[in-house]
Amino acid sequence: MLPNILLKIENSLKDKDILSIDELIKFMSLLRRYKKGEWLYPGVLIRKLNITSSKAYKVLEILKDMDVLEVNYELYCHTCNTFEGTIYETFSQMPTGHECEGCDTELQPLINSIVIYKVIFDGE
Ligand SMILES: [Zn+2]
Repeated sequence: MLPNILLKIENSLKDKDILSIDELIKFMSLLRRYKKGEWLYPGVLIRKLNITSSKAYKVLEILKDMDVLEVNYELYCHTCNTFEGTIYETFSQMPTGHECEGCDTELQPLINSIVIYKVIFDGE
């Protein structure tokens, strides 16, 4: 992402006061590496910043409201902890009864979907 949008995001997050200064610095350096069309996984945020998932989703929702990110979905098998790889733009596009390639568990969107965030604006 480019400096102009990064600065906007940083200021907005400072106002909201969700992340500590330390977490905010880490988040901004992580975000800098993302480009338009790439996906940001909440799990990456949780691990790299060492924050709770509710905190991570709050931050991501703010970026969504700023039209920097949009919500996409991916099927995830909780039995073998694997992402299925196909990304869906809407929840209704997700197939029902898809079998996990790793362990043959039948996956259902309601239970096995993970919300991920696609970068739709990076300052360009
Ligand atoms: Zn599986």
